[in-house]
Amino acid sequence: MLQNPRRWNLIVLTRLFNQEDVKGIMSIPLGSIDEEDSLIWHFSGDGKCTVKAGYKVAYRYLLEGSNPRLAPQAPWKKIWKLRIPLKIRNFIWRVCWQAIGVNSALFQMKLNISPECQRCGETEDAQHLLLYCPYARAVWIHSLLALRSDQINSNHISEWITTWFDSRSYLEGDFADWAALQSIICWQEMITVSKEYIEA
Ligand SMILES: [Zn+2]
Repeated sequence: MLQNPRRWNLIVLTRLFNQEDVKGIMSIPLGSIDEEDSLIWHFSGDGKCTVKAGYKVAYRYLLEGSNPRLAPQAPWKKIWKLRIPLKIRNFIWRVCWQAIGVNSALFQMKLNISPECQRCGETEDAQHLLLYCPYARAVWIHSLLALRSDQINSNHISEWITTWFDSRSYLEGDFADWAALQSIICWQEMITVSKEYIEA
């Protein structure tokens, strides 16, 4: 939220939510009285959000929103079964679809923003933000996984996410834990970058 005058911060919203949600949020009128914010969920009558109900909505959204001809090959069922918060599963799903608010995408949407990464100046797409930016490389190499993300060679980021579940280098039965950890690291990277934009 920006002040004087009070208005939605479009750039931050676009980085954190999909296009439909951004439109919905932007259409919410802002009152002039300074009241404390509260969270409500419009899919339920009482405004309360539960994991079970959220999963149902997300799954319906996944089925309705996907176009089989354009669908990247990704292990959707395994992603949705990961034991991580729904918002992170949803995020990974959007990463696979290149539907996250990276600067190159925001630039294409004609938002007043440079397509470059504000950390290193390269074009910021999903691969750059999550894998190849010097910041992302440092995060991965210092993580529990000690991953050399600059050596990952995928044409599409969903190809890399698919390898989370089929790599033979992991101990059998541990796929889900490794995939969960990688999902959380990706999410954390996105949150950190978004915070930098809020504070900039
Ligand atoms: Zn960068």
